[in-house]
Amino acid sequence: MEDSGTSEKQEQRSKNFIYEIIDDDLKTKKWNGDVHTRFPPEPNGYLHIGHAKSICLNYGIARDYNGKFNLRFDDTNPEKEDQEYVDSIIEDVKWLGADFEDRILFASDYFEQMYEWAVALIKKNKAYVDDSSADEIRSSRGTLTEPGKDSPYRSRSVEENLDLFERMRNGEFPNGSKTLRAKIDMGSPNFNMRDPIMYRIVHEEHHRQGNKWCIYPTYDWAHGLEDSLEGITHSICTLEFENHRPLYDWFLDELGIHHPQQIEFARLNLSYTVMSKRKLLQLVKEKYVDGWDDPRMPTVSGFRRRGYTPESIRNFAEMIGVAKRDATTDIALLEFAIRDDLNKHAQRAMAVLKPLKIVLTNFSGAEELEAVNNPEDPSMGTRKIIFTNELYIEKNDFMENPPKGFHRLVPGGEVRLRYAYIIRCEEVIKNSDGEVIELRCSVDHDTKSGTGTSKKKVKGTIHWVSAENAVKAEVRLYDRLFTVDSPDSDKEKNFLDYLNPESLEIIEDALVEPFLKNAKPADRFQFERNGYFCVDKKYTTDEKLVFNRTVTLKDSWGKMN
Ligand code: ATP
Ligand code: MG
Repeated sequence: MEDSGTSEKQEQRSKNFIYEIIDDDLKTKKWNGDVHTRFPPEPNGYLHIGHAKSICLNYGIARDYNGKFNLRFDDTNPEKEDQEYVDSIIEDVKWLGADFEDRILFASDYFEQMYEWAVALIKKNKAYVDDSSADEIRSSRGTLTEPGKDSPYRSRSVEENLDLFERMRNGEFPNGSKTLRAKIDMGSPNFNMRDPIMYRIVHEEHHRQGNKWCIYPTYDWAHGLEDSLEGITHSICTLEFENHRPLYDWFLDELGIHHPQQIEFARLNLSYTVMSKRKLLQLVKEKYVDGWDDPRMPTVSGFRRRGYTPESIRNFAEMIGVAKRDATTDIALLEFAIRDDLNKHAQRAMAVLKPLKIVLTNFSGAEELEAVNNPEDPSMGTRKIIFTNELYIEKNDFMENPPKGFHRLVPGGEVRLRYAYIIRCEEVIKNSDGEVIELRCSVDHDTKSGTGTSKKKVKGTIHWVSAENAVKAEVRLYDRLFTVDSPDSDKEKNFLDYLNPESLEIIEDALVEPFLKNAKPADRFQFERNGYFCVDKKYTTDEKLVFNRTVTLKDSWGKMN
């Protein structure tokens, strides 16, 4: 990520409460001037746009304060984790531009140290082995108004606890038969302090540790230890961990080890989107989408395949800022961010998605015309396009019986062809079903774009490709994956009930400008009037060119429909 300039950065600093905390820490020398953040994903799914927000925030802080940023896998739950997720997460974090240098770290590498610290707590009589079942533990936890009940195993001796815990580790007991719990306070008003579980028995192969372990630490026990071991200064997490903070603090204080400050911020929620990894996994597993990187998924890999740039996602993260209260962000803001970026950088091209043939009755041969590559960036230059007497325009740029205000082609009417001439529709040719299959048009030779002598003006300009040299392509248009803005807020209904059956439209016979045949996977373009597109990396082959529509142009609906 580039430096965003001093004044902008300062403004941003005063806006974001986490920067204020860090500024204070630097003044009081709380961490000897260090700033060290981390992004701690569990490798149980692909990263989504909410994770991207957290990455941008954590990395952005490290960058802005010349600090450090760790990528740390919180791989403490072998049943759900997989190397595939580890690999995808590394790729996504790199793609977003967050620089963790050589620090790809794994919580599972700390298991031995965590075990020793658990033993230390047992020795302090601050942890005990509990034989209660999960149900028994749950039912003795009490309620908001009633304290919990002490476990019958709570008063075990230190010696017995040490022995049992070692035997848990050695694999003597089956899953679920014992846990290690912190001995805190079953009467605490904070549920998280009512003797929380530190270890569970899980006989399961771990993707990195193999069968070395059959006890696995819980999030609450492990997370602070991971932060502490890495010398993290500011442990930034989402709001649901706010009432876990006393426990985070308790463990670190009892052990007397480096104690980072946990800071909570509001998670990102996006309209028309589900963000829970469990639900995203279900969409993938049950094949409602074409994998984690389906361009309709709110995953980083989905956005990448769809044509989003890392800059646009980083800009989006800046725009939404960091808050202390949960809210839902309009997905239109994310679309704005990508449009804004592509508008500046994307090469323009003409592509006809649903072609209608035009035959020019008074034009022959081939003429070279000049087209602008990007009106926002003259340095991108111009290109040559070949104009011939057979062309294709969009079907819906012609109407036989147009409503008032239709400024494109109509029988007897005129329209300008982009970068070329004004043409007049002389004759409409239909097939036996009455469907319009061809238009015969005449060219006004004095109206050539830029150099024509005629002062004639028409209201509409439409794009076209030449029948002689256009290249066939498949085009995939995406709509929102869900039909309502909060698909998982209705507790009565399943989010799947709101899937949009029209979220993907595949157009097999689009025609694009000839230079696009050399486009490479992930190359991005603006197809004039049709939106921003990129070459699909999954389905494009030597024989077949496939484009994804990244996003529509702002007013494309008004213009096209
Ligand atoms: P789960 O823990 O249920 O698997 P998760 O989305 O919390 O799901 P993690 O891998 O634990 O997944 O998340 C890694 C980091 O990303 C955490 O620090 C978490 O706070 C942050 N994060 C997750 N979802 C969001 C979100 N929607 N907005 C901002 N940050 C998020
Ligand atoms: Mg989590």
